[in-house]
Amino acid sequence: MDIPGTARLSELALERVGLGIFAVDRDYRIVLWNRFMDEHSGLAAAQAIGRSFFDCFPDAPRAWLKRKFDTVFLLHSGSFSSWQHRPWLLPFEHDCPITGSLDLMQQDCAFMPLIENGEVVAVCVTIADVTELAVAWKEREVALDALRDSSERDALTGLYNRRHIDGRLESEYNSWTRHHETFAVLLFDIDHFKRVNDTYGHPTGDAVLRNIAAIVSPQLRSSDILARYGGEEFIVVLPHCDEAGAAVVAEKIRAAIENDALEASTGALKVTVSVGGCVSTDGLTSVAALVAQADQALYDAKHGGRNRVCLFHPHPA
Ligand code: GH3
Ligand code: MG
Ligand code: MG
Repeated sequence: MDIPGTARLSELALERVGLGIFAVDRDYRIVLWNRFMDEHSGLAAAQAIGRSFFDCFPDAPRAWLKRKFDTVFLLHSGSFSSWQHRPWLLPFEHDCPITGSLDLMQQDCAFMPLIENGEVVAVCVTIADVTELAVAWKEREVALDALRDSSERDALTGLYNRRHIDGRLESEYNSWTRHHETFAVLLFDIDHFKRVNDTYGHPTGDAVLRNIAAIVSPQLRSSDILARYGGEEFIVVLPHCDEAGAAVVAEKIRAAIENDALEASTGALKVTVSVGGCVSTDGLTSVAALVAQADQALYDAKHGGRNRVCLFHPHPA
């Protein structure tokens, strides 16, 4: 049964719906062009209908779009294209007020066959404006990245924290077990730091910790990873580094800290650090064992008089 006015209603919906709708025939000639397409492309239906889509839009992604159209003609089935894979089909402006870096309307597109007598006579394309969704999605990604980053950072120094470095140590260790790429670990600890706190107060102690981060960071290569390992103890992971390299970096760190001073209210405040280091060697069975070796070397440096570097060597039996 025909419902009176249905045709008019369909026509009205096609024109008023908040979607771009157009269709092309087998020669890619436009056979349908709704008001949304008119308003956003600047091309009125009267100018568009009967013309080749690619003549009207020479900048459209021709090869990709042809493949999309041809597949629908061939397979009699529809397909979809998400803004995440292809942000837009036609470069339309959007009317979303806050978009960050998104200059153009983000579009989800559906390609559907129009079938008559068992033949696909045209491909109908819908363009949905998903700019607001894309903006929200991107904002969420940025927020998640920031959250991920802050959960792996130490709030006082801004350096990576133990959670992060444990992961990095694990991956260096795994790559060492697979490819035998030697890497080194340095642990350093402020000498007599308790005295600094006791003498100058905890806030000054905090400033010393921040200063250490600022002094040591520039001494390292971009691939090296510096982290606050605990209270006043720091760790450095040096990928692709042998014992000689580790000794050089350890000494650079020690000397840089010794030669720097923090301007405290009572004058220049100097601190020193003791550094313990080790490199991955045959027979190593875990990350924990490696860190324990660096810790042993740090202990030796402390007991050897502080303000010095010791590298781990197995004690003779
Ligand atoms: P050593 O040379 O043997 O390392 O002596 P030390 O005094 O540095 O060692 P100890 O372990 O006795 O003291 C470490 C001090 O570090 C005690 C603790 O209050 C302080 N500390 C740990 N974390 C922080 C922090 O976040 N801020 C401040 N200001 N002090 C901290
Ligand atoms: Mg300590
Ligand atoms: Mg200490």
